[in-house]
Amino acid sequence: MAEINKAPRGTCDVLPQDSAKWQYVEDKMIETAKIFGFSEIRVPVFEHTEVFTKSVGDTTDVVQKEMYTFLDKGDRSITLRPELTAGVVRSVIEHGLLSGPMPLKVCYIGGCYRYEKPQAGRLREFHQFGVECFGAKSPAADAEVILLADHLLKNLGLKSYSLHINSIGCPECRKNYHAALKEYFRSQSDRLCGTCLDRLERNPMRILDCKSPVCSEIAAGAPVVLDYLCDECREHFEGVKSHLTAAGIDFSVDPHIVRGLDYYTKTVFEFVSTSLGAQSTVCGGGRYDGLIEQMHGAPTPALGFGMGIERLLMIMEAENAAMPESKKPDIYLAPMGEAAALKCTALCKALRDEGFIALTDITGRGLKAQMKYADKIGARFTMVLGDDELTANKGKIKCMESGEQTEISLDEIREKLYELAYYDGITADIDSLIK
Ligand code: ATP
Ligand code: MG
Repeated sequence: MAEINKAPRGTCDVLPQDSAKWQYVEDKMIETAKIFGFSEIRVPVFEHTEVFTKSVGDTTDVVQKEMYTFLDKGDRSITLRPELTAGVVRSVIEHGLLSGPMPLKVCYIGGCYRYEKPQAGRLREFHQFGVECFGAKSPAADAEVILLADHLLKNLGLKSYSLHINSIGCPECRKNYHAALKEYFRSQSDRLCGTCLDRLERNPMRILDCKSPVCSEIAAGAPVVLDYLCDECREHFEGVKSHLTAAGIDFSVDPHIVRGLDYYTKTVFEFVSTSLGAQSTVCGGGRYDGLIEQMHGAPTPALGFGMGIERLLMIMEAENAAMPESKKPDIYLAPMGEAAALKCTALCKALRDEGFIALTDITGRGLKAQMKYADKIGARFTMVLGDDELTANKGKIKCMESGEQTEISLDEIREKLYELAYYDGITADIDSLIK
C-alpha cells in the first residue's frame, strides 16, 4: 500500500530552505531568455497522448517506456508531458502564432514526467528550462539558441561544462545513412537487446541512443551520420560552426550525439558537465524542421533546447557556485498584551508597504518564546512592545547581531530601518530611499 507520508519514487520536494536557489536560477533563465528576445509561454502539464507519440516518436525510449499515460474520466488518453517542445508546438499552431511576425521565440520552465529508474540526476518528476525558436532556418539561429544556453551557464558561474555539437541531417540524407546503419546492426543482431531488434527495421538511429551496455558498445562502432550529410546539411553545419567560432564559443564535434527524441534534424547539441557523474548532460537540443508540419501546422523551420534544472543545481552545488540564501526578516515586533498586538499589526502593515520583511507574533505566546523564535528565524532587528512603550510611543530597536539597542519613537521605525538599510543592506529597495 502506498505510504501517505512518503513522496512517490523519483520525485523531490523543494523545501523552504532551498526554494531561494530555485527562484534564483529560474529568474536568471527568464532574464537570459529575455535579452535574446524570447518570451515565456506556459502550456498544460498534460496533453492528448498523440501530441507526444506523433512528435517524440513511437520508437523512442520516452514513448516506449517512460510516459505517464492514463485514460481520463471521459475515456480520453492523456499523458503527463515528458518534455515541453511537443506541447509548445501544439500551442503555437493552435493559437495561430506561426502566422505572426517571424521568428517567434518562446521560452518555458516546467515539470516533466518520465517513468525512469530513479537515480542521481534522473527523476520521474524533473524540471526543464527551455527555449524554442520558430521560423528561422539560418545557421545563425542554431548558434543563437546555443549561445543562449552558454550565456546562462556562464552567468550562473559554471565552469565544468563543455559544448558538443553534431548534425544528424535531414530525411533526405538520412535515407542512405539508415541503409548503412541497418547493414551494420544486422551484422550484430544476435547481440542487440529486444527493443533494439524491433528498432533495427523501424528506426535504426534509435539503437545509437540505447542505454544498454552491449547495445552502446555495438553503437560505438556504427557508421557516423556526418559522413552521410547532403550538401545542404553539410553547409548548414559549417555555418553553425562558423557562427559559434565568431562568438568565441568553444565546442567540439561529437558524431555520436543523436538525441533521444525523433523529431530532430540537422544540428543537435548537448552541454555536458564533468561535475555530474553518470547523468552528465545538463542541456540538450537541436533543430526540428519537420515537426510543425508533422503536427499539422504550416511547414516551419524550428529549433530549441531543454535544460534540466535539477541537474543544473547539482552542478552549481558541486562547483560551489554563488547562490543566494533565503532572505531573513528585517524586523520582528514582539507584542506583550492585546493593545500592543494591535499596534504591531499596524506597524507591520506600514513596514511591509515599504517593502521590509516585518513579522510579529501570530501564536499568542509569551515574550521569551517569541524572542527565541525571532533568533531562530534570523531576524536582523527586534523590538518589544508592551503597555509602557505604547504610552510613551517609544521602543528599543535591537540589533540581534551586536545586541546594541537604540531608543526611538514608534513613528520612526520606518525611518530607522531605512537608515539601517542604507548601511546594512537590509531588504527594502535602496532606490526607495532616494525618492
Ligand atoms: P538522458 O540521456 O540523460 O536520459 P535525455 O536525452 O532523455 O537525457 P532530454 O529529453 O533531451 O534528455 O531532456 C533535456 C534535459 O532534461 C536533459 O539534458 C537533462 O538535463 C534533463 N533530464 C532529462 N531526463 C531527466 C530525468 N529523468 N531527470 C532529471 N533530468 C532529466
Ligand atoms: Mg532520457
